[in-house]
Amino acid sequence: DPTGTPVPDGKYSDEIESVLIDEETLQSRIDEMGAEIGARYADAEAPIILICVLKGAAIFLSDFARALTVPCETEFMAVSSYGDSTSSSGVVRILKDLDRDIADRHVVIVEDIIDSGLTLSWLRKNLSTRQPKSLEVVTLLRKPEAVKVEAKPLIVGFDIPNEFVVGYGLDFAERYRDLSYIGKLHPRMYS
Ligand code: 5GP
Ligand code: MG
Ligand code: MG
Repeated sequence: DPTGTPVPDGKYSDEIESVLIDEETLQSRIDEMGAEIGARYADAEAPIILICVLKGAAIFLSDFARALTVPCETEFMAVSSYGDSTSSSGVVRILKDLDRDIADRHVVIVEDIIDSGLTLSWLRKNLSTRQPKSLEVVTLLRKPEAVKVEAKPLIVGFDIPNEFVVGYGLDFAERYRDLSYIGKLHPRMYS
């Protein structure tokens, strides 16, 4: 438990073993990310388009969009990766595509976590064929030890150990997305 924060009282408190990143640390890092990425696009002639990859990145997107110091528009995409439930294969199917054309626009993919990087690598290739003016990636979390395909994000919120985490959008069997912090599940929740 690197932040030394006790698991807060409240929902799920007896299902979470430890806090990896507490709410205050998350929020202040997201403010920094919004300022840093905002500065990079300060001269953009049109609002940048943030693409949220559902569902995991939805909570991060909503805080990041407000922390960003330049105007943005938000778009949502849902993809499903073929393969077993614990590892992604890099073969991806689009479940929900963008509603709009991104040609000639500055586009930023907003990700919850880069694990193997396979899904993101596929997405980047797919979106680049639509001729955006620029295409970059912002991710809240990254597991450096798990990365198979280098995704070269503009910014990473936090590098974390190669362990399964939940909260702040990230789920285990659709649960725990509604936690305000990133934590590790109690091992008994897996069995
Ligand atoms: P990748 O293609 O990079 O291996 O897959 C990334 C996706 O796997 C993420 O968007 C996320 O949905 C899921 N994922 C990877 N690591 C974790 C984790 O530690 N916890 C949770 N809840 N999901 C994860
Ligand atoms: Mg994701
Ligand atoms: Mg998931």
